[in-house]
Amino acid sequence: MTLSDYPMNHAAEVSRERFVAILAENDSPAVAEGAAMYDTLVASGVSVLVFLGFYHVESRMGKVGVCKDYDTKNPGNVRTPASLSLSASLTPEIPGKGRYAMYPTWTFGTLDWCKRIKGPKYAESGLLTVRQVLPKYAPSSDRNDPDSYARTVLAMVERWGGKVGIDIIKDLTPHNTSGPRGHKARAVVWHVAEGGRAGVRSWFHSPASEASTHYLVCKDGDVIQFVDEAITPWANGAVNKPRLTNPVVKEMVESGINLNRLTISIETERYTGDRLTADSPMGRALAQLTREVMQRHGIPIDDDHVLGHNEVDSVNRPNCPGNLDWAGLLAAVKGGGGTVSKEPVVPAKPDTIPEAGTAEWFLNARGETVVVVNFGGKAAHIEGVALMDAGVTVANVSGDRYYRSVIDGTFTEWLKVGG
Ligand SMILES: [Zn+2]
Repeated sequence: MTLSDYPMNHAAEVSRERFVAILAENDSPAVAEGAAMYDTLVASGVSVLVFLGFYHVESRMGKVGVCKDYDTKNPGNVRTPASLSLSASLTPEIPGKGRYAMYPTWTFGTLDWCKRIKGPKYAESGLLTVRQVLPKYAPSSDRNDPDSYARTVLAMVERWGGKVGIDIIKDLTPHNTSGPRGHKARAVVWHVAEGGRAGVRSWFHSPASEASTHYLVCKDGDVIQFVDEAITPWANGAVNKPRLTNPVVKEMVESGINLNRLTISIETERYTGDRLTADSPMGRALAQLTREVMQRHGIPIDDDHVLGHNEVDSVNRPNCPGNLDWAGLLAAVKGGGGTVSKEPVVPAKPDTIPEAGTAEWFLNARGETVVVVNFGGKAAHIEGVALMDAGVTVANVSGDRYYRSVIDGTFTEWLKVGG
C-alpha cells in the first residue's frame, strides 16, 4: 500500500536510535547531532520521518547543493528563518539562486524548520499534510515539482517507518451517501452497530437501509471502510437535544450544516451492553483509527472532538455508542497520556411512555445499562441489567419475568418466561 498523504505533525514513528541510524546510513554530516534533532522534532510534534524525507529531497541529508557548499546546517533549504534568533546569518548572494538561511548547528536548523511548519505559513493556515504543504513550500513557479517531491517524501516515510497507518479493508458502498462533504471534518463520532460484521456490511450496501458510516471497527481489530472520508455518509440522522455543553457540538449545530458533512463516523461491532475497553483488539484499533483520522484532518486530539452519537441525538440514539470505557479509549486516542474529562451522556427522559409490551434501554451516567420496561401499561426502571446478554430475564412490576433471545444479531420479541 502506498501512502496517498501523511500529516506533517505526527508522534514519532521510529526510535531515537533508528533516527540516528537513518542519518548514518545516508552519510549525513548531521549524524552527531541526530539525537538532539530527534528530541527537537518530538518536542515540536513534527513527524520525524517527514522531516527526514524533506531533508533527503533538499540535500540528500546535507551532502549536496547549497547546504553542503555553504555549510548552512539548513535541513529544509529555507531562505529566511522562521525565528531570527535561531539563524546567525544568510549566505552571500548565490548566482541564480539567491540567499539561504545559515544556522550555527543542525539542531537550530531543525528547530527553526519545526517553527516554520507549525507557524502561520503552514499549520496555522490549515496546511497540515505533506501534500497540502508542498505546493507552497516548493512551488512549481519556482521550478519545483511539488507532486514528485510529495511522492518521494511519502515513499521514504513508508520505507523508513515500515508499516505506517492502520490496515483498512475497503468495502465502499455505492449507496447511502450524499456526495462530497464540502466542509472540513471537525470531529469524529463513535457508534455502536448493534450487530455483527456481516449484518453491518449487508445493511450498508442495501439501498433500502439509507444508512452508512465511514468505518466499522470489528471485534478482532479489523477496520472496514464503507465511505471515503471525503464523502458524506448517512450516519448521524437528525440532531435532537444535542449536548450543547460540548463547545464542538454547539459550534457544529449552530453552523446549521448537516453533521454528516462535518464528522467522520466510526461504527463498532458490538451491542449496546458490550463494554468496549482500550485493551481489547477492537479498542486498540478504534483508538488508532480515530487518532489517524484526526491527524489527517487536523482535528484537535482532545475529549471534545471525539463524540458519542448520543451527544448529537440524545433522544433517539441515547444508547449509541453504548457501554465503553471513555477514559481509557480517549487516553489511547491521545497516545496514552493526559487526563480525560469526558462524562457519559445522561439520557433525556422519554417524553412518552412506550407502548405496552415494549422495553427501552439506555446507559445511565455511570455507564450502566438502564432498562425501562413497560409491560401491561406499568413501567419499571431496572438498573445495571446486562440486557444485551441473550437469555437474561427482566421482571415487570407484577413480578412476571420476560426475556429476549438473539437470532442473527436481532432481538426477538419480549417473551414471558413460562408464558
Ligand atoms: Zn449511532
